Amino acid sequence: MSIKAPKGTKDILPEEILTWQNIEKTASDVFSRANFKEIRTPVFEDTDLFERGVGETTDIVNKEMYTFIKSDRSLTLRPENTAGVVRAYLEHNMFRESPPVKLWYKGPMFRYERPQAGRQRQFHQIGVEMFGVQDASADAECILLASKFLNALGLNNLVVEINSLGCSVCRKEYKEKLKKAIAPFLKDLCEDCQNRYEKNPLRILDCKNENCNKLFQDYNLKNTVSSIDLCDECASHYKKLKEYLDILNIKYVENSFLVRGLDYYTKTVFEIKSNDLGSQNAVCGGGRYDGLVEMLGGVSTPAVGWAMGVERLSSLIKQIEERKIDYFVVSDNQKEAVKLVLKLRDAGYIADFDYNSRKFSKQLEKAAKISKFAIILGEDEIKNAYLTVKNLETSQQEKKTLEELLS
Ligand code: ATP
Ligand code: MG
Repeated sequence: MSIKAPKGTKDILPEEILTWQNIEKTASDVFSRANFKEIRTPVFEDTDLFERGVGETTDIVNKEMYTFIKSDRSLTLRPENTAGVVRAYLEHNMFRESPPVKLWYKGPMFRYERPQAGRQRQFHQIGVEMFGVQDASADAECILLASKFLNALGLNNLVVEINSLGCSVCRKEYKEKLKKAIAPFLKDLCEDCQNRYEKNPLRILDCKNENCNKLFQDYNLKNTVSSIDLCDECASHYKKLKEYLDILNIKYVENSFLVRGLDYYTKTVFEIKSNDLGSQNAVCGGGRYDGLVEMLGGVSTPAVGWAMGVERLSSLIKQIEERKIDYFVVSDNQKEAVKLVLKLRDAGYIADFDYNSRKFSKQLEKAAKISKFAIILGEDEIKNAYLTVKNLETSQQEKKTLEELLS
């Protein structure tokens, strides 16, 4: 039986890689201009980091982690990168730098989910984290950065949704209200929602189960419990965010039922959705997580960030076509061919040749498929120190010396 890539994983093949490189290059350009620095953390961490950092009532920690034991140590493939970045921030005393500390990352994440379009078990995220700013200008800067990045990739058919989850004080009352409204049909909700009910009822609003969503509608849940009653500080933060977004000319929609999958969010949460994706339509999710640094052992530090799914981005972008190489050297003299290819490469061209010294006709066939020009290096060319350069688009041939070609 032949071995295939594990379920929920995908090879990113050469024909797709130019699009990925473009996404990564654009990220690096846009983020460095905003003075964000790249950080790379390990793909696995102590399991404890995610249990504490992502939260024990989340789907991620409950059922999606790839955890393994080595030398009595429980390790987990990172399901997301915020916890890892916070760990590195603390471990390397980055809190000593004058705030804000602005970081970005890219890389693979691992979640044991049911694979479907736009949902994999190994997938990739690009994200940013910003530490040390309490003011809503940081939330706005992060949302701005996400939208600049998406625009730079040519994506415009997007909707920014925002909400405020308030702090633990304003959330408490809302949770009770929500529980009361859900109680009449709790027994009909999915098993996950039953579990969320006591531990983290807000997460019920994020349920993706169709039947649950139908029940929310039937019982008019969203009208019964409208939005969180924010305390003065949270309300003023949210108001400021909207003012900043207006000044920055970022269009947004308020969605008072936007909750995020992770436990650590406070105040601002947001998502960017694409109208061009199917049911997995969120390309970006993020928010403020003022409690996380302290929860992981640091001093209380305000923080805000987001993550984007690169597979979903890639599926939205017109794939960049593979370029033809510049020169393919056609020759029956391997040594001379190699020498010429190396000179062309050193001069900055993409050049290749036939490693098998097949018949000229075979070599020319290959050249026509992959290259803009063929350079014929036969007996006469070698003897008289010139090259026959064939334009493979127009079939025109010219005799040139190497110096002429390189100039
Ligand atoms: P979703 O609601 O789609 O499950 P999430 O709330 O779990 O997303 P985050 O953990 O905030 O998402 O991750 C941010 C982004 O990463 C998502 O908006 C999405 O684009 C992408 N993403 C998350 N999980 C996956 C996955 N399993 N496969 C592919 N992309 C994913
Ligand atoms: Mg998810």
